[in-house]
Amino acid sequence: MNTRRSLLAALGGLGAINLAAPFARAASRPGTRDQGGSPRIRGGSGAVVLSTWDFGAAANDAAFAKMRAGGSLLDAVEAGAMVPEADPNNHSVGYSGYPDRDGHVTLDAVIMDDAGGVGAVAALEDTVHAISVARRVMERTPHTLLVGEGATRFARDQGFPQQSLLTPESQKAWREWLKTSKYQPEANSENRSTRTPGGALDHDTIGLLARSADGRMAGACTTSGMAFKMRGRVGDSPQVGSGLYVEAGVGGATSTGLGEEVTRVAGSARVVASMRAGATPQQACEEVVRHIATLRGAAIRGVQVGFLALDTNGNVGAYCLLPGFTYAVTDASGATSVLKARSLFKA
Ligand code: ASP
Repeated sequence: MNTRRSLLAALGGLGAINLAAPFARAASRPGTRDQGGSPRIRGGSGAVVLSTWDFGAAANDAAFAKMRAGGSLLDAVEAGAMVPEADPNNHSVGYSGYPDRDGHVTLDAVIMDDAGGVGAVAALEDTVHAISVARRVMERTPHTLLVGEGATRFARDQGFPQQSLLTPESQKAWREWLKTSKYQPEANSENRSTRTPGGALDHDTIGLLARSADGRMAGACTTSGMAFKMRGRVGDSPQVGSGLYVEAGVGGATSTGLGEEVTRVAGSARVVASMRAGATPQQACEEVVRHIATLRGAAIRGVQVGFLALDTNGNVGAYCLLPGFTYAVTDASGATSVLKARSLFKA
């Protein structure tokens, strides 16, 4: 274990990790660590990038590089989200996402800053970078959300390259699925190490939150949603307040997992509301997960839902229903750590 990782583990056990601490020097790619104890993380005064799942590490690096090069927070979260969107091995973000039950790959994405800027697309087809289309909705239309055919046409009219998003591998997985047509979302399929490509109802979402050194915030969330979903199904990810929420002077939150369980409680907005009322990001993530569990009881058995939160001081929170939700944190030095969130249930 390198020094950085040892310190993260030790400090995690003590209940606080200062992401701006002077020991955080070189960019690192440690293995996933269990946070243990209290997972409160202090960000200190520097920039912080936080994202869902282990594959978020590469996205964080891209986001951080963008900030370091002088890009805005929106530039940063967009650049981060574009990494898994273009990854052919990631089967539910962007290109090569698993299709809906009719064989169409449809993408959902939202981008948001803390000045009221919001853009989103849902059920977008034929464009790899849904997050960039979402940003275009924010910057070039009077609207906050375009869906389906309208979103697809908007992307085409805006000059985004058009291509099929369905790869032979994803098509094969879909054909396999058609043999049973059983819709049974699998918890934690996002973790690359445990994934069986094409063999399960894979779902991935990347939710990113970024904070600049002066405490400004932005976020992005992009996904192709639940594999083999009904045509027209839209999950939590592109819905402001469910998959993502950012508020000036408070912070931001993002979610992953079975979107319907997040949408029914407007999960990310709830996390931010708790923080506004004085909760730490960790307390706020725990509150919403407990609320979902209480509300849904047996209906969420075996279901994964995870939340990340980042406040304007750089403090991080992470919590989920089931063990296995991982996330990536990049601190002011550019060092990235992948951590395991604590969960409400043991399994
Ligand atoms: N939340 C996403 C959705 O329901 C999927 C995921 O995060 O795995 O569309």
